[in-house]
Amino acid sequence: MPSIQINTPGRTSIVSTCNSIEAVFPLIEKQHTVVITDENLDRLYGILFADCRKIVLTPGEESKSLETIRDIYDELIAAGIDRTTTILGIGGGVVCDITGFTASTYLRGLDFGFVATSLLAQVDASIGGKNGVNFSGAKNIIGTINQPRFVLCPQDVLKTLPREHFINGTAEIIKTGAIGDAELLEILENRQAEFLALQPETIESVVGYSLNLKAGIVARDEREQGERRLLNFGHTIGHAIEIATGILHGQAIAIGMNLAAEISVRLGMLSTAEKQRLEKLLTAYELPTRTNLPAAQLLPLIFKDKKRQGENLRFVALKKLGRAEIIKLSLEQIKEFLDDLCCAG
Ligand code: NAD
Repeated sequence: MPSIQINTPGRTSIVSTCNSIEAVFPLIEKQHTVVITDENLDRLYGILFADCRKIVLTPGEESKSLETIRDIYDELIAAGIDRTTTILGIGGGVVCDITGFTASTYLRGLDFGFVATSLLAQVDASIGGKNGVNFSGAKNIIGTINQPRFVLCPQDVLKTLPREHFINGTAEIIKTGAIGDAELLEILENRQAEFLALQPETIESVVGYSLNLKAGIVARDEREQGERRLLNFGHTIGHAIEIATGILHGQAIAIGMNLAAEISVRLGMLSTAEKQRLEKLLTAYELPTRTNLPAAQLLPLIFKDKKRQGENLRFVALKKLGRAEIIKLSLEQIKEFLDDLCCAG
């Protein structure tokens, strides 16, 4: 895929798929680069960045905290890092979020870029400039919007990505197709075997298609005033499930999407056939679509959501596959739907 540019008022960001992680070298000066990565990635690819200063994090969501950010600030200060430095995040969504947040705040903002190594990071977390950490039990509640100078999405690294994390990433691809372009869903339906077998051409076309769709939305609405809110499809309920259970983000979002589609049907916005098609696709990609959690456990978490406005929530509903709309749901309506759906089994 040729590089695409995301032009936003503050900056131009270049996003490219590529074959290998080494494509990053022309984009950085090793002596002036601090790499932020995690232990898994460092074990696999750290040798390539032996000449760079490195900060290696404990893998996983637990690291996405202000404590981690504070430790990184301490390291940057101790190393005398100044504005000539580029911060390079090499990792999945966790590393991208931590890197983007740190680089956007340290010295009021340093140059930064990502090598996105998980499928989820390639199609979603690395694109769009939103980078946050968790705080007081709420996901991504503290953060920044600031575009990286570049994002690279290498194919070769997907071979070492654990399969459950690969599956996790497909949930965000399905989400992007569900809200933005049903043709992406059709490709996923038709080329499932090739995609799951990491067939290079299929990966290239699906990842390229998906990140292009997201990049277009971000370029049109960087600050999430309108269209970008559609990317939260499945996330209102999904985030609550993720926090309550600790299951992977993509799995939680898959359940959230299926429940949001069911709510769309009950509101008379979406046909049952389209909802079933979405559920079938999620299942075909080995993603869960239901939760056994009681509504009473999810509701307090949903009510803490960033999209809450007083007694209402901005909720992303589907009109058809490829077309979504923001609607207002009262907290009472959400409660009624979930009381019903969470017991529906
Ligand atoms: P992750 O970053 O925890 O990565 C998953 C696991 O895979 C980790 O153990 C990591 O070490 C390992 N890994 C990553 N790439 C690998 C590779 N190529 N080879 C071997 N191991 C590899 O999780 P994730 O699913 O990538 O990202 C989830 C995070 O992204 C969540 O915190 C979520 O909130 C965030 N997110 C952010 C945005 C955004 O716009 N900022 C969007 C979506 C998700």
